Amino acid sequence: MTAGAILTIDFEALAANYRLLCRQVAPAQVAGVVKADGYGLGAAHVARTLLDQGCRHLFVALLGEARTLKPELPQDVPLYVLNGLMPGAEAECAAIGAIPVLNSLDQIARWAALAASRNEVLPGVLQVDTGMSRMGLPADEIAALLADPSLLAGIEVRLVMSHLACADEPADPANAEQVRRFEAVCAGFPGVPRSLDNSGGAFLGRGHLDLVRAGIAMYGGAPNDGPNPMHAVVALDARIAQLRTIPVGTRVGYGLTHQVLRESRIATIPVGYADGWPRCLGNRGSAFVAGMRVPVVGRVSMDSITLDVTDVPAEHLYPGAPVELIGPHQTLDAVAADAGTISYEILTQLGHRYERVHVPAHDRSTAR
Ligand SMILES: *Cc1c(COP(=O)(O)O)cnc(C)c1O
Repeated sequence: MTAGAILTIDFEALAANYRLLCRQVAPAQVAGVVKADGYGLGAAHVARTLLDQGCRHLFVALLGEARTLKPELPQDVPLYVLNGLMPGAEAECAAIGAIPVLNSLDQIARWAALAASRNEVLPGVLQVDTGMSRMGLPADEIAALLADPSLLAGIEVRLVMSHLACADEPADPANAEQVRRFEAVCAGFPGVPRSLDNSGGAFLGRGHLDLVRAGIAMYGGAPNDGPNPMHAVVALDARIAQLRTIPVGTRVGYGLTHQVLRESRIATIPVGYADGWPRCLGNRGSAFVAGMRVPVVGRVSMDSITLDVTDVPAEHLYPGAPVELIGPHQTLDAVAADAGTISYEILTQLGHRYERVHVPAHDRSTAR
């Protein structure tokens, strides 16, 4: 009644997606990537659901995210920080109990220095750059590290990892090249668990090493451009706030960018770009009313969207009538495609004004 729309988050679907990924990559294990507040769905809720499924490794991007999430987790669940150690963050990282992904010799040196100063062994993950040029040790730093293992003194290397640039495009030859480079590096760290694949990587036809870092597929997004095997986790349902009938030639919305060519019924729904509904979907995106596609007409406003519902039977059109924005007729990936973006961006931008309804995962505590 008070929100513009209801965002339903189905944690049983999330759990089912986690199980599907586990089957897909076995005997590799699946880590949950819960950065950006669990892709916008609530990192603590997502983490609890995954732990209940037997997940034992979690990744966030930022130390601040680890600080928020760590107290919600059992002590022994490793929480890794993908973006690594900013200069000066070493003590805080250790105090939080997070495990840094060490992305450069400099980060390794600072983590080792903290370990030495405390006379302790500290856990860390090594990330190597195998071709994406984003995070991780570049080739010359890898060579320096392999030539002088004492650089890692005081660090217990829990995992060696790298990240694929083109995992969502299975045919791209860059994938095989990154695998080749990664395996060559891993040979220098015998016995240390290896992690290369994200969601897309989990669906590349080959082995998956020891640990897969899954994000988007867990959240129901398509792991690549093929058919999506995952269960939908989010649904977004608005309601009609106002209806009007406008004569032929009337224009609609900011800038009057749409003009109707016939007498038309326009429905306004209380969702806008402030809710993360992309402004670029003006005159382009759609919604569904009673299973019928209705186009967005005019611009997306901050707090509302106008839909042309002329072709929808009158019995489905009344103030308060349901309007599907994400659901069985319009997937998350379809919205992203209309907006010229990816599901990740739609999810992580979902606003905070929606009423959030959580469908709980089935309780498995008694089954185990
Ligand atoms: C975000 C991220 C992931 C998860 O990727 P998905 O495509 O969402 O599965 C895995 N690894 C790293 C390094 C990441 O940054």
